[in-house]
Amino acid sequence: MKKHNFYAGPSILPDYTIKKTAEAVLDLNGIGLSILEISHRGKDFMAIIEEAESLFKELLAIPEGYSVLFLGGGASLQFAMLPYNLLNTKAAYLNTGEWATKAIKEAKFFGDVTVVASSEDRNFNYIPTGYTIPADADYFHITTNNTIYGTEILEDIQSPVPLVADMSSDVLSRPLDISKYALIYGGAQKNLAPAGLTFVIIRQDILGKVSRPIPTMLNYKTHIDKGSMFNTPPCLPIFSALQTLKWIKDMGGVAAMQKKNIEKANLLYHEIDRNKLFKGTVEKKDRSLMNICFVMNEEYKELEKEFLDFATAEGMIGIKGHRSVGGFRASTYNALPKESVEALVAVMKEFESRKI
Ligand SMILES: *Cc1c(COP(=O)(O)O)cnc(C)c1O
Repeated sequence: MKKHNFYAGPSILPDYTIKKTAEAVLDLNGIGLSILEISHRGKDFMAIIEEAESLFKELLAIPEGYSVLFLGGGASLQFAMLPYNLLNTKAAYLNTGEWATKAIKEAKFFGDVTVVASSEDRNFNYIPTGYTIPADADYFHITTNNTIYGTEILEDIQSPVPLVADMSSDVLSRPLDISKYALIYGGAQKNLAPAGLTFVIIRQDILGKVSRPIPTMLNYKTHIDKGSMFNTPPCLPIFSALQTLKWIKDMGGVAAMQKKNIEKANLLYHEIDRNKLFKGTVEKKDRSLMNICFVMNEEYKELEKEFLDFATAEGMIGIKGHRSVGGFRASTYNALPKESVEALVAVMKEFESRKI
């Protein structure tokens, strides 16, 4: 039976990416060697990392003055690397969930942190508004898509101080006005590549403003100057990322991704709202296009396990909600086909017809 992959991360990748990666593991472009066993400084790999960087820039219309870095350590290392490089006295953060909370915790090792607003009062089920960003902050940090709770900041916000965004789970899902951001980072394993790769988009002029010494490997400048080749980069995930970037371009770019993501999300949210068994967990205006969270209505709560088993038996994989929300979460990243959402909706309808 066909499996529909709704995992939150690592998560579904385009068939194209998986097929091209499998081929390159056996023989990279007919050179008689595997991508796994060639020098990262040889011409074959250099061509891969350079193309990945330029395609990333092309797809997101990244202007002059920015670098795209391919690093290790995950988004979690960025939680610390960011304040290490940018926090002189004070930073501002918006707390919209567990990942934002973790980012805040790390920033506190380096200076004062002002949390301008938090949605923790209602289990992070909305994006706060009406907050003031302090004009003397070194930067303002947001998490654009809250993978665990299913809320998303769907527009590029205006910040009076350098804007930094964790886009681990929604990068390349829509066009961005990059000029509004000073730095964007994320783990690649949600929407781009296999685990092991971290991307950073950084405006070069924000660096050099902190007085503390920064260890070489944790200094963004090192990686900018060396084109992500200061040390051995995660070669295989970079190769896979390039395939995903090519696939996005072939499919019509990030605007086409956004159109398809809206269609998929609308389909599923419509069914959650229509179906008597289910309800959504977040404010409608803040609903994520990437991670769609829902629970069983109060009167049907005891059917939760039964629905999970039923859906799983029908091929729906990875829809169990995160433990801090419960219920269900369907991740609908770029690579998830619309047919998978249609299949999930059909399963929800079938279950309703059996129970009501
Ligand atoms: C998954 C995730 C992270 C953690 O990423 P790692 O690469 O595992 O460190 C951070 N932020 C967000 C928004 C995420 O979805």
